[in-house]
Amino acid sequence: NPRVVIIGAGIVGTSLADELALRGWTDVTVVDRGPLPATGGSSSHAPGLVFATNACETLSGFAQYTIDKLVSLSTPDRLCFNQVGGLEVAVTQARMDDLHRKAGWARAWGVAAEVVDAKRCAQLHPLIDASRILGGLHTPDDGLADAQATCDSQRERAAAAGVVFRGNEQVLGIETLGDRVTGVRTATGTLPAEIVVSCAGFWGVEVGAMVGLAVPLVAMGHQYVTTGAVDDMGGFVDERPGKAAAALPILRHQDADLYYRQHGERIGIGYYGHRAMPVAMDDLYRDTAGQPMPSMLPFTPDDFDPAWTESTRLLPALNRTHVTEGFNGIFSFTPDGSPLLGAHPGLDGFWIAEAVWVTQSAGVGRTMAQWITTGTPDVDVSGCDITRFSVHEVERDHVDVLSARAFDEVYDISHPREQHTVARDRLISPMHAGHLARGAHFVTSHGWERPAWFDANDVVPTGDRDDGPGDDWFRRHWSPTVLDEATATRSAVGLYDMTSLMRVEVTGADAAAFLAPMLTRNPDRPVGTVLYALILDDTGGIRSDVTVARTATDRFQIGVNGPIDIAWLTAHARRARADGMSVSVHETTTETSCLGVWGPCAESVVAPLTSTAVDAASLPFYRCAPATVAGVEVLLMRVSYVGEFGWEIYADGADGAELADRITEAAQPLGGVWAGRGALDCLRIEKGFRSWGTDMSAVDSPDEAGLAFAVAKNHEFTGRTAMLERPVRRRLHTVIADDPATVLMGSEPVSTADGPVGHITSAAFSPTIGRTIAYAWGPADLRTGDRVDVDWFDTTASFTVSPTTTVDPENARIKG
Ligand code: FAD
Repeated sequence: NPRVVIIGAGIVGTSLADELALRGWTDVTVVDRGPLPATGGSSSHAPGLVFATNACETLSGFAQYTIDKLVSLSTPDRLCFNQVGGLEVAVTQARMDDLHRKAGWARAWGVAAEVVDAKRCAQLHPLIDASRILGGLHTPDDGLADAQATCDSQRERAAAAGVVFRGNEQVLGIETLGDRVTGVRTATGTLPAEIVVSCAGFWGVEVGAMVGLAVPLVAMGHQYVTTGAVDDMGGFVDERPGKAAAALPILRHQDADLYYRQHGERIGIGYYGHRAMPVAMDDLYRDTAGQPMPSMLPFTPDDFDPAWTESTRLLPALNRTHVTEGFNGIFSFTPDGSPLLGAHPGLDGFWIAEAVWVTQSAGVGRTMAQWITTGTPDVDVSGCDITRFSVHEVERDHVDVLSARAFDEVYDISHPREQHTVARDRLISPMHAGHLARGAHFVTSHGWERPAWFDANDVVPTGDRDDGPGDDWFRRHWSPTVLDEATATRSAVGLYDMTSLMRVEVTGADAAAFLAPMLTRNPDRPVGTVLYALILDDTGGIRSDVTVARTATDRFQIGVNGPIDIAWLTAHARRARADGMSVSVHETTTETSCLGVWGPCAESVVAPLTSTAVDAASLPFYRCAPATVAGVEVLLMRVSYVGEFGWEIYADGADGAELADRITEAAQPLGGVWAGRGALDCLRIEKGFRSWGTDMSAVDSPDEAGLAFAVAKNHEFTGRTAMLERPVRRRLHTVIADDPATVLMGSEPVSTADGPVGHITSAAFSPTIGRTIAYAWGPADLRTGDRVDVDWFDTTASFTVSPTTTVDPENARIKG
């Protein structure tokens, strides 16, 4: 087994060491700048509340594993986890509704949860004033982790297996040879290693800088206090030793950014309602040099005042005591609130696992160990992968402002379509000025501003417009104009700014040979061919789906799913070059523009602007060709994500605005409209087209995801054998609402008479059929015509399993 050095002996580093040792990897050394056992990092003083329900299935899964593992590590002498249960209360109707939504996620991800009334909340936690709340969400398996005891248990077990732990030893640099890591440097010398994993918590930015890796996290202060003794704990006493001892459930009052736990006769209170407190690391090093707890800053009582007032209202018994201790503890926040996991794309052997809460720590340790030892993680890590950010998103000001927002909003009710108001207009397409003039509403993706819909299309006289389907929640950050734009695309032509669709050029004499083993279809075809293909991992799971256009013998343009793919292709090309291949990967997204022109009138719009024959016979489906359109040199690509005849038209960025203007002029007389992402989503779901990362991920096989058609039978590629040997565990089904009034937004639980069986991935109201169409993971044996139930807040709606494609299953429209 390779030699491994783990930087950091907090709860993440010790979890990983333990999980590696459990897999037989014992040539592992864990070094920490602080003393052992309590290193002084965030884990040394975390109050340890673990709520497993999360909007994200992966994060919820990490938490469920953490609970199970910590329960199993507990002994009579060392309580690592205390399953006191969790209670989240609501004082507003909006929060109460949100608790129903959370209960839905809990059902979808297999977490025990029940929405309960105020009286029941007060029975579960008798300090609560029931008259103050509307109800709550009770999660009986949640509870309290003793982070330090867990570190100790995992460290001792790993040490017994041979793992070495070294305290008071700071890593000062990373040793490398070429593109490989060879060890770490500390004050006492060099520790050789083939694999180095940084589990440095909020020090992660500094460690990343040692290897040129921009780690997008911010160390933030967060207030935690303990009260004096509360005179009546309602008989809830736990005499066991250790920090996890408690009898009251852990409690969240998220309407006021507060959480609570019991410490014997006292109550601990954590507060997220104060101003964001980013920590300047240089000041921290100076101010805390030599101190045992560099992660605890002095308490700032003024910031806590509103929290105390609100706490005494919810828990009136606190009026008879006061805050006796407090500190501003430091831990990591990221721009999107998720952890940072995975491999350095530019330095082989260097990994990170940072910005991880105690809640997810053991689950992260397990998945990291699986990933490092086998090369493939066992869950969908796309939302946690360190390479999920574009180069623009890891710029420091961007990280600072979005991480501060993540802190501000940590307990907010977040609407799936809500957009942040900070760090906007970072990347705009050449067509942006036109979008503003047309009254675009924008959504962001990797820093790009993308139109969601255009007010200019809202031509229905005031008062005549009905509000559209669904309820207030569904219609938030949305407009019925979305449906008009979709309808106009099907009846005439829609213009879509697809510039933000990330793409790379793969060039070189060996470009085809480089791509062939990673794609499920052989790209070595005549110039002008376009392929839809999958990239599988070693287990046969779908790590991406891509559109591959051969634009020259030695050149491919590949439309990818984002920075993860770009990092992955770039790393593979680097290794291929080291093996003597002639290939390079270059991202072209910001240099070029892409305009989608789709609909039955598309040919009538474009043909008069070009001398190239653009009819269906001359440029067939899945072909591309250079052309001059409106005097601009372009690449016409006959593909369509909306299921209509037309092209993605790629041009140099400098020409994008002019081209768009000319095409707009040509489209308008034919009833053409500009359309946004909302319409695009309706139309692609009507067509049965998947969106990687939402509908399927690396845990799903092509067969399960309904993408077996994209796998060539006579082509060898990575993951093929594993794919053929994998059993089908579940399938992605198209389901259509029985009632036209039913709406969904994604992540809702799906059940049959047998109970919960899966969840919704994507959903949209289809203007073509006047009902909601959704994709649902469910049992493989569900058949067309079967009924499933889907929960929407506190209601349940019936859906019918339907053929994959709802509109134009014969592809007559798209083929032209
Ligand atoms: P740490 O425990 O900080 O470990 C990182 C280690 O890396 C440190 O020991 C450090 O010394 C070492 N290190 C850094 N740089 C170097 C170097 N160059 N060389 C060698 N060693 C290095 N989470 C929850 O899930 N629930 C909660 O209720 C909760 N409440 C919290 C309340 C407070 C007040 C705070 C501050 C945090 C809370 N958290 C909670 C968050 C949680 O504590 C952290 O996310 C978690 O402990 C991070 O674990 P870690 O192992 O990544 O980091």
